[in-house]
Amino acid sequence: MKESNVQTATHQPAAPPVNDLPRKIRQLPVSEVYGALGTAEQGISPEEAQARLKKYGKNTIQEKKGQPLIWKFLSNFTHLMAILLWIAGLVALIAGMPELAIAVWMVNVINGVFSFWQEFRAGKATEALKKLLPDYVRVLRGGEELRLLAEDLVPGDIMLLSEGDMISADARLVEDNDLRVNQSTLTGESNPVHKARDQVLRTDISTVESPNLIFAGTTVSSGTGKAIVCSTGMDTEFGRIASLTQSLKDESSPLQKEMGNLTKKVSAIAVSIGVLFFILAIFLAKSEPVAAFIFALGMIVAFIPEGLLPTVTLSLAMGVQRMAKRNALIKRLSAVETLGCTTVICTDKTGTLTQNEMTVSNVWLGGRNLEVTGVGYNAEGGQILEEDGRPADKDNSDLCQLLTGAGLCCDARLLPPSEENSHYTVLGDPTEAALLVVAKKNGLNLDELSASIPRLRELPFDSGRKRMSTIHQPLSGGRLAYVKGSPKEVLDLCTRQRRNGVVSAMSDDERRRVMAVNDEYAKKGLRVLAVACRELTGEVALPTSLSEYTPELIEQDLTFLGLIAMVDPPRPEVAAAVKKCHKAGIRIIMITGDYGLTAESIARRIGIISGSHPRIITGLELETMSQTDLEEALKDEVIFARVAPEQKLQVVSALQDMKQIVAVTGDGVNDSPALKKADIGVAMGRSGTDVAKEAADMILTDDNFASIVNAIEEGRAVYSNIRKFVLYIFNSNMSCAVPMVLYLFSGGLIPLPLTIMQVLAIDLGTDMVPAMGLGSEAPEAGVMDAPPRSRKDVLLNRPLILRAFLWYGMLEAIFGIAAYFFLNFLMGWPAVPLASEGIAYRMTTSITFAAIVLSQMGAVFACRTDRTSVFKIGLFSNRLILVGIAVEFTLLACLVFLPLPFLHNLFNTAPLPLKHLGMLLFIPFAMLLLDEARKWLLRWWDRRKKKNRNDQTHTNMPKDAKREAI
Ligand code: ATP
Repeated sequence: MKESNVQTATHQPAAPPVNDLPRKIRQLPVSEVYGALGTAEQGISPEEAQARLKKYGKNTIQEKKGQPLIWKFLSNFTHLMAILLWIAGLVALIAGMPELAIAVWMVNVINGVFSFWQEFRAGKATEALKKLLPDYVRVLRGGEELRLLAEDLVPGDIMLLSEGDMISADARLVEDNDLRVNQSTLTGESNPVHKARDQVLRTDISTVESPNLIFAGTTVSSGTGKAIVCSTGMDTEFGRIASLTQSLKDESSPLQKEMGNLTKKVSAIAVSIGVLFFILAIFLAKSEPVAAFIFALGMIVAFIPEGLLPTVTLSLAMGVQRMAKRNALIKRLSAVETLGCTTVICTDKTGTLTQNEMTVSNVWLGGRNLEVTGVGYNAEGGQILEEDGRPADKDNSDLCQLLTGAGLCCDARLLPPSEENSHYTVLGDPTEAALLVVAKKNGLNLDELSASIPRLRELPFDSGRKRMSTIHQPLSGGRLAYVKGSPKEVLDLCTRQRRNGVVSAMSDDERRRVMAVNDEYAKKGLRVLAVACRELTGEVALPTSLSEYTPELIEQDLTFLGLIAMVDPPRPEVAAAVKKCHKAGIRIIMITGDYGLTAESIARRIGIISGSHPRIITGLELETMSQTDLEEALKDEVIFARVAPEQKLQVVSALQDMKQIVAVTGDGVNDSPALKKADIGVAMGRSGTDVAKEAADMILTDDNFASIVNAIEEGRAVYSNIRKFVLYIFNSNMSCAVPMVLYLFSGGLIPLPLTIMQVLAIDLGTDMVPAMGLGSEAPEAGVMDAPPRSRKDVLLNRPLILRAFLWYGMLEAIFGIAAYFFLNFLMGWPAVPLASEGIAYRMTTSITFAAIVLSQMGAVFACRTDRTSVFKIGLFSNRLILVGIAVEFTLLACLVFLPLPFLHNLFNTAPLPLKHLGMLLFIPFAMLLLDEARKWLLRWWDRRKKKNRNDQTHTNMPKDAKREAI
C-alpha cells in the first residue's frame, strides 16, 4: 500500500462498537481506519474523549480479587505456632488453671492481631508505591500532542509510539518506522515481531499475529509509530488473559525466609527447653506435675518469637517507604536487603551523573570554532559568536545547512513557559532540544523549514548505531537525508564535506582533523554530535515503499556538515554521593554510550576517577575481550565508553563472577538484560522506558545517581535496624530464664522469683512496640563508613547472640535477681527465710518483674546504636520508642503500683510502695550507662586498630612516598 493516500476524516463519526473490532479493522486500508474508529488525523476532541471515557470506562485491567481480608486475618491464628498455643491453653484449662489458659490465649490473640496489623500496614505501604508510578501514554487529541495517564485512553485515541514504550491498549497502526514489538506477554515468543500499517486481508492468521495490530501489555522494542486505539481495558487481548498474569506470587525475601526459619528453630529450642524445665521441675524442685507442666508451658510461650516475621516484613516495607521519599522506588522487598550488600554500582552518565540539561556551547564547521552563548532551553538572548567575539553571520550557508539538518533531524519539542512551568520545558530527548535551541539562536524558523522540507520517514536513534536519520522531500524537489550522531560513527560514513558552500571529497586526514577537534571538546566534558546530509538520487530516491529506507541504504556516502558540542553539567549532589560510596567501600564504574574523553572528563570532575591514566575500554574493544582480560581490567580504575547498552550485561556478568554484588542503571530497551541480570537493576523514572522500568528492581523518580546511594544507605539501615530489634527481642529470654534456673537448681530452696504469668506479661508488654520502634530508626551516622555486608552474613550471628544473651540478658537477670534478694533482705533475710508464700512472696516476685521491665527500658535505648553513643543521636529522637516506654510504664503501673486487685491476682503481683519504685528507677540509667561504657571501649578499640594499621602502612612506605604523605 502506498503511504501517501492517508485520508483525513473531516468529521468525527460516532464512537465505534468494540469487541470483534480488531479482526475487522485489520482488513481496512489505512485511509478507512480513521473513519471506522471514529476519529480523525488530528485525533478526537477532548470533549469526545470525555464522552467515550464515560461510555467505555477506564482503560484498566480489573484486579483479580486477592484473598479476602478476613482469611488473611484468620491465618494469623491458624499457623503451627498459634495452634500449639491454642492447645497449650486448653491443656492449662483442663489442668484447672483457667487464668493461665486465658493468659496463653490472650498472648495468642494479641500476637495474631498485632501480626495482622503489621502485615496490613506493610501491604498498604507497598500498594501506595504502585500509585506513585502510573503509566503514561503519548496521544494526539484535538491536533495536540499530550501525555496522558494510560487509564484515560479511549477507543479512537491516536497513540504515538517510540522505543521502549509499554503499549496501553489494542490499536491499529497507521504509521510505522521500523517498528518492532515484543509480544511475549501474549504469545510467549520473546523475539520482537515486525509491525507495519498495511492492510491484512489474510484470514488464516490470528488477531495477535496480525502485523498491523498492536496490543496492550506488549512493548515497543524499536522504531516509532502511530496507532489508533480499537479496544481498551478488559476488552483488550491482554484483559482477557490478565487473570493469568496476576496470579504471580510475591516472593519472600531472603531475610523473610531467614526469619521464618529462625522462628521455627527458636520455637523448637523453646519447646526443648520447656521439656527440660518440666523434667527438672519434677526431679530437682520436686514440683507437682501440673505445676511443672504449667511452668514449662509458660517458658515455651515466652520464648517463641511469634512476632518476629511480621515485624521484619513491616520493617522492610517501612524501609521501602522511606526510600520512596528519597526518590527510589523499590519493586521487591528483597531488593532492600541486597542494596545493603551492594559492592559495585555500574552507572551510565547522561542524566544519572549529569543533569541531562543540554546547552550547545560550540559549533564547528569548515575549520572554524564558533561559541554559543546563553544557558538552558530559552533561545532568547543567546548568540552564536566567532572566535574573536564578533557575532557569526546568521545567513552563512554552511551554518544554516548544519543547523537546519540538526534541527530537522529531531523529534523533541520545546514547550514554552506556561502556568505549570515558568520556563521552557522539553518533550523528548534533551540532546535534541539543545539542537532546536541553537537553530533558533541562529534565527531559523524550524516550523517553516519543516513545512518546506517535510519529513517522509525517520530512522530512529539507536544506541547501537549511535545515529539518527530523517528522510525529507523538499517542496523544491528531490529527496534528501539528514544524519546526526556520535562523531566517530557519522564521520566513518562521510565521503564528502561542505565548506564555504562547496561540497568536496573528504580525505582520511581531514576526518582525523575533525576527530582531533572532537577530542578537544570531549576533554572539556562536552557531548559532541556530528551532522551530515545526503542527496538521495537515482533508485534510492524512488523506492516502492518508504519502508525500504533502511539505515544500511541511507547512512552511507554522507556529506559532513559540522560538529555541535554541548554542555551537560554534572549534578551538584553527585560528587558528595561518590565520596560517600568510596567511604562505604562501594566501587563506581561508568558505562556510557558517550565518547571516552567526555566520559573521563566528567568522571574525573565528580571523583569517580582519581588516577592519572584510567583505562578506557570502548564497546569495540569489549566485544573482542576475553572474560579473563575483562576481569583483570575490572580490578583497576576503568571506564566503559561508546558501549552499546546490551554490552552492560557482559560487564555485570564479569563482576558477578568476581563475587561482586552489582547495581546497574539503565533506561532503554536494550538495557533490560543487564537490569535483570544485576543484583539490583536501577531504571530511570523520568527518562527511562517502560521496558526498562519493568525489568528493574528499583526505579529512580529523579534519575539521580545520588538517590541510588541514599537507597543503599537506607538498605544498610533497614538491615541494621532488623538486627537491633532481633537483639532486643532475645534479651528478655535470658532474664526470664535465669530466675527459673535459680529455682530449679536450688531444688526449690529459692522460691520462684518470677512467676509464669509475669514471664508472659514481659513477653507481651515489653517486646512489641519497642521492637517496632527499633525497626524504624534513622540510618546511624557511621552506616556508610563500613564496607558492604557480605550476602552470606547471617542475621543472628555469634556476636549478636552473645550480646543478646550474655550482655543485655545477663545484666537484666542480675538486676532482677538483685532486686528480689534486696527486698527479701529488707524483710529480714537471711535471718528470716526467703518469702515463699502470701503477700510477701508476691511482693518479691513483683520487684523482680519491675526490675526486669525497667532494665528492658534501658536496653531498648541501648539497642538503638551499635557503636555510636545513644546520647549523640538524641536520646528521645525516636517517637515510637517513647511510645514503647510509655506502654512498659503502663504495664508496670497496672501490675505493680496501682491498686488493681484483679490484675494482681492474675499475675501473682502485689502493690509495691512507691519508695521501692524510686529505688528501682536507677536501673534503666545503669543499664544504659553500662552499655555506653561498652560502646566507648569498642570505639577506643577501633581507633587503636586503625592507628596501628596506619602506622604499619607508614613504616612500609618508601621514603619518597612518606615525604609526600607528610
Ligand atoms: P549514557 O549511556 O551515559 O546515558 P549517552 O546518553 O551519551 O550516555 P547514548 O544515548 O547511547 O549514550 O548516546 C551515544 C552517543 O550517540 C552520544 O554520545 C551522542 O553522540 C549520540 N546521540 C545521543 N543522542 C542522540 C540523538 N538523539 N540523535 C543522534 N545522536 C545521538
